[in-house]
Amino acid sequence: MAIRIKFVGVNSIKFNQRFKDDACCYEYLASIKWEQGYKCKRCGCLKYGKGKKAFSRRCIKCDRDESPTAGTMFDKCKIPLLLAFHIAFKISTKKKGMSSLELSKEFELRQKTCWEFKWKIQQAMQSSKQYKLEGEVHVDEFFIGGPEKGKRGRSKGEKRLVILALEKVTDGVGRAYAQIIENASAEQIIPFFDNYISKEAKVITDEWKGYVPLKTKYLNLKQVPSGDGENFPEIHLHIMNLKGWIRGIHHHCSEERLQGYLDEYHFRYNRRNTMHSIFDTLIQRMVAYEPKRLNNPAT
Ligand SMILES: [Zn+2]
Repeated sequence: MAIRIKFVGVNSIKFNQRFKDDACCYEYLASIKWEQGYKCKRCGCLKYGKGKKAFSRRCIKCDRDESPTAGTMFDKCKIPLLLAFHIAFKISTKKKGMSSLELSKEFELRQKTCWEFKWKIQQAMQSSKQYKLEGEVHVDEFFIGGPEKGKRGRSKGEKRLVILALEKVTDGVGRAYAQIIENASAEQIIPFFDNYISKEAKVITDEWKGYVPLKTKYLNLKQVPSGDGENFPEIHLHIMNLKGWIRGIHHHCSEERLQGYLDEYHFRYNRRNTMHSIFDTLIQRMVAYEPKRLNNPAT
């Protein structure tokens, strides 16, 4: 089995040296796709010869030809592969990512094309839900979108309600996850906890009654008065930064799209101390996941 040479780092000069043309990118995708070895998807044969295109593989038994992009997020991509790699590199390594408008200007592509590709990237940035938050975890909900002023409430209006969990570690904050919820009922809150927070975590929430039923599962859950946010300074700073970022890139978007932005933000945020491997992680995910169609691509 060949050893895969991962691209490491955030240096664009090194990136340009490694990925000079489409062939370099096909080779990279092939090395990820068949890292654990080749197996024909039709007949299960483990032996292959050269396929039609460069870096494609053809089953020696049944002749099935498979390209490195088949069944990945790069399949039938409207953007040349080298540009697609550049976009994935920029979005993953730039602190604030890049909007589809910025991408279309920089790479001379239609904004809609950039927007569609960025949507795929955001899907690849969804949490794997494998690494739950541990230790001290603060949870809060907030509204996003719509006018900033207005009374504080938990009912659903024009704004969308988001629940956020943030890990507190000795020297600051650790990872965070956020999800749109319909309302702040226990029914909506419980799946978020199940997906993102370890049962052993010391969870701290405000005194909202929606959290009470969770105490049977999360034995270390503690409710404290929020004191208008003063008791949760880290999570409030995080929410402020997240809202500022979203406000800076778009004014309104569909619920499906908003979740994409929340995923994008936290994919980068949770890797801020391990940025060297962020591009490779993103490409691995884009090879492993098939894109889901967006229901409402108009917004
Ligand atoms: Zn075969």
